[in-house]
Amino acid sequence: MGPKPEADVDVVVVGTGAAGLCAALEAAAGGADVLLVESAAVAGGSTNLSGGIIMAADTSVQRAAGYADSIEALYRDYSNLNQGAIEPSLVWQLASQSGPAVEWLIDLGVKFVGQLVYAAEESVPRSHIPTRGGAGIVKVLLSACKDRGVDIAYGKRITDLMIENDIVRGVRVGDETVRARSVVLATGGFGASPALWPELLPSLAEAGRAVWYIGAEGARGDALRLGAQGKAAVVGRDRCLALLTPDFYRNLEVYFPGWLVMVDRSGQRRVDESTSYSTMELAHRRHGPFFAIFDAAAKKAAQPGLPLQYKQAVPGMEAATTSNWVEPVLDEMIALGKVASAPTLEQLANTLSIDATGLTTTVARYNDQASAGADVDFRKEARFMRRLDEPPFYGVELRRGILALTSAGLRIDATAAVLDTYGRRVPGLYAAGECTGGVLGTVYVGSGNSMANCVVFGRTAGVSAATHAREQKGSGR
Ligand SMILES: Cc1cc2nc3c(=O)[nH]c(=O)nc-3n(C[C@H](O)[C@H](O)[C@H](O)COP(=O)(O)OP(=O)(O)OC[C@H]3O[C@@H](n4cnc5c(N)ncnc54)[C@H](O)[C@@H]3O)c2cc1C
Repeated sequence: MGPKPEADVDVVVVGTGAAGLCAALEAAAGGADVLLVESAAVAGGSTNLSGGIIMAADTSVQRAAGYADSIEALYRDYSNLNQGAIEPSLVWQLASQSGPAVEWLIDLGVKFVGQLVYAAEESVPRSHIPTRGGAGIVKVLLSACKDRGVDIAYGKRITDLMIENDIVRGVRVGDETVRARSVVLATGGFGASPALWPELLPSLAEAGRAVWYIGAEGARGDALRLGAQGKAAVVGRDRCLALLTPDFYRNLEVYFPGWLVMVDRSGQRRVDESTSYSTMELAHRRHGPFFAIFDAAAKKAAQPGLPLQYKQAVPGMEAATTSNWVEPVLDEMIALGKVASAPTLEQLANTLSIDATGLTTTVARYNDQASAGADVDFRKEARFMRRLDEPPFYGVELRRGILALTSAGLRIDATAAVLDTYGRRVPGLYAAGECTGGVLGTVYVGSGNSMANCVVFGRTAGVSAATHAREQKGSGR
């Protein structure tokens, strides 16, 4: 037997979602020989299921659509929406590299539609919509990996990090070991492991049985276990995107029709009902539970096939969305008792345990504003304002019920190096995408926030891992 090889490969990347594929490509571009390892039989994880929308500032797509934007503006909007609760160095990396990330994807062959949409309530639209969704992006990235000679091993769930003298030197699948100079974890979130929710998403655990996860099965939180072997810190507790839902069916509807009126337990409105899902979730966390209230006239008007009454029209969404808020579905839910109905608002309030005076006062005020054509209180667009005065009245509780992604995870720095609780690097270990914490803030900024994180920090991790591997090689390891 000859001497033990110092490393089988320069860089091992664990996970083939957007983060892992981008890391592999950049590591290969940096001269590293790269092995991608995937537990599933196919590549793509949650990225494959996603819309692939990516948030970015100052791109050629924005310029072509006539929008002037800047890195500083994205950074400021991100910080404001998160009320300053951000990691500045990480968010600056996200903001400054988001534009280059989109141009890089375009160069690789990803096509974006010309129309951009707003993620939340930011100053210019930044959500870039790929023509073929997340699966299309995975396809392009996979093909580029093939062209650059990146090996992919499917059906291998990494069980352990190989650590010698506190330095990460590879990965293990059971008894099988792959020695590597750098390891990148890109294993996705932990939505598919409800056992981890109580500790990491306590406010969601309280919501109880209405919560269901829409991402990939591979999102089991493996990076948390693997990172712990290297003493990595976990940050971002209780951060995730949990969309509000009436819990009729397990269908994904991210916006609410603007004609609904939403009140809290005291009967007061707290939000523009047509706002972005991130702002909605934020308002709900502050004031929830929320109840969606409507009358017989609104129900009658909500016929299938009519344009969806969302504030934000997202190209392709009409065709992809089965709305909860159409008369046949509402009638079915009324018959099942999931939607409460009553001849008066007072009785409806009593049925739903809402303050009756609060609800009647709010609806009277809302009706006055609807007649005047202006939502003085929340500035909802006039086209959505309609009076509620035709009995029966209806109401249903909305819960944070659809877990779309998790954003508690491994602590990283702006180079995607994994850090311990003291902020020291875990040598040889990098991480990117949904398995990390700290890039996404207390609020999910909206469509494209996660893909921007995955592509930007995936690329960053690939560059850093290749650099580290080169340095190791140079010192004979
Ligand atoms: C329906 C839906 C729509 C969405 N739409 C958008 C959108 O339009 N824009 C946006 O920004 N975000 C969106 N998101 C969120 C976004 O898609 C994800 O957060 C993102 O794709 C995560 O990418 P990732 O590379 O971190 O992880 P993933 O894409 O989940 O990839 C992780 C991979 O790692 C593998 N893996 C896990 N553990 C191991 C292990 N131990 N060993 C080997 N392999 C392992 C998994 O099998 C998986 O393939 C959406 C999510 C869903 C579910």
